[in-house]
Amino acid sequence: MELLKKTAAEIRKALLNKEVSALELVEAEYKRIDEVENKIGAFNSFTKQEAINTAKEVDKKIANNEALPPLAGIPLALKDNINYKGSKTTASSKILENFVSPYDATVSLKLKENLIPVIGKTNLDEFAMGSSNENSAFKKVHNPHNINKVPGGSSGGSAASVASLESYLALGSDTGGSIRLPASFCGITGFKPTYGRVSRYGLIAFASSLDQIGPFGRCIEDVANLYYAIAGHDPKDSTSLNLKVENPNLTLKNDIKGLKVGIIKELLSEGVDEDVKLAVMNAAKVYEELGCTVKEVSLPLLKYSIGIYYIVATAEASSNLARFDGVKYGYRTKDPSNLMEMYTKTRQEGFGDEVKRRIMLGTYALSSGYYDAYYKKAQQMRRLVKNDFDRVFKEVDLLISPTCPNTAFDIGSRNDDPIKMYLTDIGTICANLAGCPAISIPAGFDKEGMPIGLQLMSNVMKDNLLLQCAYNFESQSEFHKKLANI
Ligand code: GLN
Repeated sequence: MELLKKTAAEIRKALLNKEVSALELVEAEYKRIDEVENKIGAFNSFTKQEAINTAKEVDKKIANNEALPPLAGIPLALKDNINYKGSKTTASSKILENFVSPYDATVSLKLKENLIPVIGKTNLDEFAMGSSNENSAFKKVHNPHNINKVPGGSSGGSAASVASLESYLALGSDTGGSIRLPASFCGITGFKPTYGRVSRYGLIAFASSLDQIGPFGRCIEDVANLYYAIAGHDPKDSTSLNLKVENPNLTLKNDIKGLKVGIIKELLSEGVDEDVKLAVMNAAKVYEELGCTVKEVSLPLLKYSIGIYYIVATAEASSNLARFDGVKYGYRTKDPSNLMEMYTKTRQEGFGDEVKRRIMLGTYALSSGYYDAYYKKAQQMRRLVKNDFDRVFKEVDLLISPTCPNTAFDIGSRNDDPIKMYLTDIGTICANLAGCPAISIPAGFDKEGMPIGLQLMSNVMKDNLLLQCAYNFESQSEFHKKLANI
């Protein structure tokens, strides 16, 4: 157990000093999974043989004194909407329940190149649509800090696996907050890089202009290393940025004296829990003590971001999910009497309620009579939100806010009201609309002991500055060290 609480950097030392082998680490994770997974539900499936093979390769290299990539041998959990060759990739949907990936996503290949053992595929809201992980077609994920509460979504399995010590690291995807929200609810760190920094090739598409893969970990250094391992240009993704990725470690531990920090006024006004507000104000003080100047800034269009998002994201989803028709792959209805019935019944039986709701909304927004009124308007508004961010980033280097106005809520408590559920993402969606990098880091606990997340955002391409700011905060706090007691 003690071994599993260590950071990747500490484990690397232990590996190189031969105090532990990579194989023992992988075995320790599966033992931990045996102990707690029935209470958490983080995994959809396991990739045990692959993980063991990778670990053995690492051990061989250590025995031969060969050079090793920074995260070699550190067990990782992969969100189940990312293709990993030979493993089931279900997106937690019935329609892909038995789908086996015939190829690797670019990030999966990078994990292999970096000799990172992938131990399993993690549960999510079906097709990454949700904020609480209650939309999985298979089972719910439970928050390791209190199993009656949600872990946040949609990458709830990834976050819960890291928080419950079932893995050191994880990858998730973030379309409107799906990395940051579960990181916040589970008391760990989750990072959505600048749009285009990490290849989306092999990620099951939800809303392509917003989707971004990113890392989870229990400290910034681990998250920075994992980001560096997976980032970079990919000709297979047409929206991938063709720009060099600098190693974040070169600047991670530098001080941030003189930086300008903006507290987003709109995200600290009505509807924010007192404990959460307090944690953000305390964080602002920490940044002042670190030598930054802190002031309030306003993003007046932020209040429209949920409305914009639910037009753009559902429109793209309705188009992306058209491929699940029972013909090419995945589930097909039994004994249809004609082709049309095959299509409709397959989709009727294969998709869950939330996915159907999104497809209907998106199809409506894209239909010829409403395209200009909804989709085009939403795209225009998205541009204005981005302009707002451009203006603010001329004034400040870093934006701080709560990741979410509240901490993790009880399982089942928001299910009957989709709008209320959508409002959970008020703090996170804007970063996807603007394409800028954003991270959630542990910043406190509420009265019930549930973790509070602090969101940091910086201008596009300033990923390393963002990680540096996060590191500086973390080095002044102990919140990330308080692990879930499960
Ligand atoms: N909660 C948001 C949604 O349901 C965001 C999901 C995500 O980032 N994948 O669309």
